[in-house]
Amino acid sequence: MSAEVIYGKQLAEELRQEMKEEVSELHNHNIHPKLVVVIIGEDPASMSYVKGKQRASEKIGLDSELIELPESTSEKELLDLIDQLNEDQTVHGILVQLPLPDHIEDQKVIEAITPEKDVDGFHPINVGRLLTGQETFYPCTPYGIMVMLKRANITIEGKHVVIVGRSNLVGKPVGQLLLNENATVTHCHSRTKNLRDHTKQADILIVAAGKAGLITGDDIEEGTVVIDVGVNRVDGKLTGDVDFDSACEKASHITPVPKGVGPMTITMLLHNTIKAAKRIHNHQ
Ligand code: NAP
Repeated sequence: MSAEVIYGKQLAEELRQEMKEEVSELHNHNIHPKLVVVIIGEDPASMSYVKGKQRASEKIGLDSELIELPESTSEKELLDLIDQLNEDQTVHGILVQLPLPDHIEDQKVIEAITPEKDVDGFHPINVGRLLTGQETFYPCTPYGIMVMLKRANITIEGKHVVIVGRSNLVGKPVGQLLLNENATVTHCHSRTKNLRDHTKQADILIVAAGKAGLITGDDIEEGTVVIDVGVNRVDGKLTGDVDFDSACEKASHITPVPKGVGPMTITMLLHNTIKAAKRIHNHQ
């Protein structure tokens, strides 16, 4: 079997075109969705991520602002800025790029953003809403994975989904989204014994471990749907957690790295920002 490749990049482009039309329609109703991204310090990887988010926002017509603060910014200064953004009626989405410098507590900052503008979906209230099956902002990477599965017509209900990873960012929320859609979910992690025994049972295998080549064709059965979330740099090249060529021989569907899950993450951030603007305006 040679797997059907699910290109997130192509789907992301289609969705962004639809969003561009939606934003233009919102402008006609005098609603101007705005995303503010805050970055502290000059980490090149973080800077490249936020620039990508800003470019993507502008391309679909969102108002976007990048606030760059020096590494020396205190926790109080950042929390005060978040308070101002929470109050600012022209701002609909607030994203603080993580990780933060050591002297600032990530969780304090996450909890300072009002849940109504928490387009990353990390605030405990939004996490709780996800856990209890309520409508909320879903974290962007897990949400992007769900959209990819659905657009590829992959049935979720009743399927055994094995997830390698249990982070708050990816593993746990994607597991919860799938459980909410009636999948049977197994989480594996660094203490899991005999990982292959689990991955071989998967109808859908989601790998979010951050370990290049952790999963190969030997770890899956024929017909598995493989979603590779990992982003690793090996010899200067981006590569996933899955050995693409050997997995392709057995998988029914597979996502590549790059051009797979990554472009969907930013797309869902744009989606969440538009949703935040619509919700805030509906409540005014
Ligand atoms: P993370 O916080 O480091 O979590 C990694 C998870 O994988 C942990 O639960 C860890 O187990 C587990 N793990 C690590 N090594 C393992 C092994 N050998 N066997 C089984 N489980 C193992 O990472 P993350 O934030 O979830 O991100 C995961 C990967 O996805 C990274 O490569 C990241 O760059 C990528 N990512 C991509 C996107 C995108 O848009 N494409 C977005 C976010 C993240 P423990 O819990 O026991 O430590």
